[in-house]
Amino acid sequence: MANNSTMLQYFEWYLPDDGLLWRRAGAQAKAIHEMGVTDVWLPPAYKGCSSADVGYGVYDLYDLGEFDQKGTVRTKYGTRKEYLNAVSSLQSAGVRVYADIVLNHRMGGDEKETLTAIEDSQTDRTQSIGEPFPIEAWTRFTFPVRNGKYSKFIWDHRDFSGTDFDASTGRSGIFRFAGKEWNTETDPENGNFDYLMGVDVDTCRDVVRREIVRWLRWYDRTAHPDGLRLDAVKHISFQDMKTMLAMFREQAGRKVPMVGEYWSSELERLTHYLEQVEHCMKLFDAPLHYRFFEAAKQPERFSMRALFDHTLVSAAPNEAVTFVDNHDTQPGQALESFIEAWFKPLAYAAILLREGGMPCVFYGDLYGIPYSRIEPTADLEKLMRIRRDYAYGAQTDYMDDDHIVGWTRAGDARHVHSGVAVLLSNGGAGCKRMYMGERFAYETFYDLLGRCVEPVTVDAEGWGTFGVPAGSVAVWANRGAYERMMIQA
Ligand code: CA
Repeated sequence: MANNSTMLQYFEWYLPDDGLLWRRAGAQAKAIHEMGVTDVWLPPAYKGCSSADVGYGVYDLYDLGEFDQKGTVRTKYGTRKEYLNAVSSLQSAGVRVYADIVLNHRMGGDEKETLTAIEDSQTDRTQSIGEPFPIEAWTRFTFPVRNGKYSKFIWDHRDFSGTDFDASTGRSGIFRFAGKEWNTETDPENGNFDYLMGVDVDTCRDVVRREIVRWLRWYDRTAHPDGLRLDAVKHISFQDMKTMLAMFREQAGRKVPMVGEYWSSELERLTHYLEQVEHCMKLFDAPLHYRFFEAAKQPERFSMRALFDHTLVSAAPNEAVTFVDNHDTQPGQALESFIEAWFKPLAYAAILLREGGMPCVFYGDLYGIPYSRIEPTADLEKLMRIRRDYAYGAQTDYMDDDHIVGWTRAGDARHVHSGVAVLLSNGGAGCKRMYMGERFAYETFYDLLGRCVEPVTVDAEGWGTFGVPAGSVAVWANRGAYERMMIQA
């Protein structure tokens, strides 16, 4: 049995535009591995529509910081060479790399085209407003500087379904191009959520799907990522996505692991998507993020019994990538719903120390967010180490109280001193009797986080009465684990 996997999202929204992230990732590769990180998700590596673009305003997928486009050779994170070095340094250190893949839209077109468009309602895109009218849209992508290197594909209005900007009047709206329909196999929010931003890629077209698969193959051969993180999948035709990924995997000759970002607080949307794409990817567990958010925001009213209710990790633990926060939920961002600092260690214990799900640690929680004066999450590195070393074996849940809940992991033979008892409280201090297993009879247990100072002795039958301070988390393990943690600290 291998060690537990832990993913690290290696960026936050407000990193400085210094072109140094790739170099930093390469230099930190060994340290990242030593924290217990097995997989790193790096931000989009290709040229965005402006020099400081975070990566989601994609202009040219083939420009990994190589061509002087959009006023810069490098991206926000560095050059192509530095990116490729970062990937191989991480891999040499024993860390798998996930590349961030943005296929839904493009921004910063090279030339305008005059088109006929229909305006659709923002809030119900199945409803049109008024008559078709002429607009100017930035729909021609000729990439004059790259000049056909890697791909001669030129994008124009036929390859897109719509835009949000009429350059002839400077007006914004949801403008669908005449002859195009929004793809109905997308999320039903706003009537239809095919359109997100920029010019929306029309994957109904064979030539578009072929070019995307060709690009995926080029990217795979160029950067050799181990896996893919797929952006905004709820805005892309479910069937086209499934088809393109299947073609890519077939051509790549391996079952490339993938995790999709389907942003919805509703579990049913996520499970429906997984069925539609025939479970070809995992999904981020956004419903769990919202449970954490509610539990932290209104602790008196939130019952901790419900912490994992209607979450992907409960419904499909092997298909869930669990997380606490990300670059979209951090303060100032589109989906702002940042988990309050006091609850963060509880939430991280809930993703790192349980059986189900692949946990993903957010850069902003691990290293802090200087832009927003946010400190690193307390004890996060310790929790990651506890996951790697001790959070193994069968899980027994005690989700039996409104404010204090917990679980035990029985440990396994392969991991010395493994086995933990975890308690979370979003209310007052308290304790709970939990079963560790008879093999721990008469052993003394300590809180590895040091928040509870009095040790606990497991009784002859393998039960212990473990405590937790108010609004806090405690992680109990035996003396051997405790002493090793002390030495490592
Ligand atoms: Ca779309």
